[in-house]
Amino acid sequence: MTFKVINGKKMADDLVEEVRLEVQQMCEAGHAAPGLAVVLVGDDPASGVYVRNKIRRAEQAGIRSIEKRMSADCNQEELDAVVEALNQDDDVHGILVQLPLPKHLSEERIIRLISPQKDVDGFHPVNVGLLGTGQADLVPCTPLGCLEMLQRELGDLSGKHAVIVGRSNIVGKPMANLLLQANCTITVVHSRTPNASEISRMADIVVAAVGVPKLVGDAWIKPGAVVIDVGINAIELDGKRKLVGDVDYDKVAPMCQAITPVPGGVGPMTIACLMKNTLVAAKRLMNISH
Ligand code: NAD
Repeated sequence: MTFKVINGKKMADDLVEEVRLEVQQMCEAGHAAPGLAVVLVGDDPASGVYVRNKIRRAEQAGIRSIEKRMSADCNQEELDAVVEALNQDDDVHGILVQLPLPKHLSEERIIRLISPQKDVDGFHPVNVGLLGTGQADLVPCTPLGCLEMLQRELGDLSGKHAVIVGRSNIVGKPMANLLLQANCTITVVHSRTPNASEISRMADIVVAAVGVPKLVGDAWIKPGAVVIDVGINAIELDGKRKLVGDVDYDKVAPMCQAITPVPGGVGPMTIACLMKNTLVAAKRLMNISH
């Protein structure tokens, strides 16, 4: 079977360009450009790369970025104070605190402290609840990126059976809610599901968000399915460090209608969706209809 490789980088470029055009229109109408604050605690190299990529994308979209760097040994009160000041700052429309935080700081507390209206990661319980009832504006960026990819690839998703592998709060659960709203029939399988591969093999769409390199092999996939691989796993191969997904790409791709690669699939779309969320938050805070 010939399969299509879904080009996440190209889709992300298109989405960022759409955001840039809307930002340009806002500015031409006399509004301020959206402002995105990114808070980075400590000097974890992977987090540093993510933050740099987000800031670079913000520049491309015409979004002002405000970077707040804090030392790894800052205390909870200091971090809380930074977030509270950003909540009060009218020039800031989106707040992102890069996770994971150093162990002595509470991620749960920080997620709850960010104003739900500026919560461009969509992790605040208010936004989680709104997503559950189909009313959310601000949805976690990774599952939003996966949905955009599926809709740009397949159009209407109504009636498709989607299996989500993984039930995390940041990917699996919001993915299930989004696909349910897109009129899919949903099954979520996870580490305690005894026959996950058999269930997955019934799906038209498989979204893998597990964090186990190459877990999803050919036995998990129905011929002609569309596969979205969220996983980003660093492995050693022939003495070199390599990034692989949760899907065994070489075995699965030839069976698929379409599949996302790792890297170059979900990753770029996640950052592009952060720009989209920042635009949505800014428009709502400035009372501009969207
Ligand atoms: P997580 O560890 O929070 O959750 C993993 C989920 O997988 C759990 O719900 C668990 O029940 C399930 N699971 C574990 N073993 C399983 C098995 N054998 N069979 C079925 N289910 C199993 O992980 P997460 O935060 O959801 O991230 C998942 C992957 O996605 C990771 O590789 C992460 O790096 C990646 N990720 C990528 C992006 C991106 O932008 N591309 C964003 C977030 C996460």
